Amino acid sequence: MSRWNTEAGIRTTEVGELRVSYVPDGVGRLRSRGWFPGTTDDDWARHPDVLDESDALVASMGGLLVEHGDRALLIDAGFGTVSQADDPANAHVGAITTGSFLDNLAALGRTPDQVEAVAYTHLHPDHIGWSDRFARHLVAAPEWDHRHGGELDAIADRVETIGDGDEIFPGVRVLATPGHTPGHTAYVLESRGERLIALGDSFHSPVQIEHPGWRVALDADQEAGIEARRRLVDELDDRRTRAFGIHFADVQFGRVRANAWHPEH
Ligand SMILES: [Zn+2]
Repeated sequence: MSRWNTEAGIRTTEVGELRVSYVPDGVGRLRSRGWFPGTTDDDWARHPDVLDESDALVASMGGLLVEHGDRALLIDAGFGTVSQADDPANAHVGAITTGSFLDNLAALGRTPDQVEAVAYTHLHPDHIGWSDRFARHLVAAPEWDHRHGGELDAIADRVETIGDGDEIFPGVRVLATPGHTPGHTAYVLESRGERLIALGDSFHSPVQIEHPGWRVALDADQEAGIEARRRLVDELDDRRTRAFGIHFADVQFGRVRANAWHPEH
């Protein structure tokens, strides 16, 4: 066990004047071979640290709280209360246990009504779980247009669509990165010369920093997903830029150097 294959707890960092905190909801497991079809035992033998005892990746699930003075924004809203046992018939995910998002938000000093909006990287269930608790919702227009099912009906009249480059909160801009979903969005946080990119699900594991060309089974457009990862790795090859990978076990905050992930803390 190491930080590369354990669940993340609350962690806070600063980006200039912005205070940025991971809000844990819980943890899931991604099956390494099923999530990344085409990878081989040799590929994974080079990255044993990220695997648990069942050769799965440990995926932290939650959201990112961004505070500027008294103001607060959330990027993604966790999975909600989910308790799903491992099902061998599921080729992509294993056991999932989530539900602690609001308690952790409270531990960080915020109730939902003290968060001015939730900005979504995309609308998969593990990013929208607690959305009905919040007042205002920011979603990339193509993501909203391609949403599935009725689970977002409850917030539909409180959704505002956003576009590439929009500043949605002081120092926070939209970076369109379609691939995982049609309207997938990363967010660039910038303040006093420091930058941090919230990667969303452009990346699910730090190993993809070294292997942006690995196909992801659940990317809606696999070629676009690869293109988005290559572009982000280039963007991160910069001394003043850090990144946040929401599903990166307990190595969520870090930097890219020499095409590899270097966690902070
Ligand atoms: Zn996700």
